[in-house]
Amino acid sequence: MNGMILSEKHIKKTQKRRRCEWCGEHIEQGDPSMVINAVWDDFQSVRFHPECHDGWSNSKMGLDDEWELHAQERGKPLEKGTL
Ligand SMILES: [Zn+2]
Repeated sequence: MNGMILSEKHIKKTQKRRRCEWCGEHIEQGDPSMVINAVWDDFQSVRFHPECHDGWSNSKMGLDDEWELHAQERGKPLEKGTL
């Protein structure tokens, strides 16, 4: 199964309080966030803190590598093979 990123968008002010998929902490209303729209098994839209998006980008993972939602440290990349 091939994953594909459709879009990455920087939101200056988040409209509604959300949970970051990377670290599991809240993204407060009015704070910046990143939205990734992608197709993995099906269409998905995930929300990250900007620093968690950096952590995700800096993780040495391919698009098809799995990672656990809400289980990473805020802003930190995930080392491959730690799951
Ligand atoms: Zn986060």
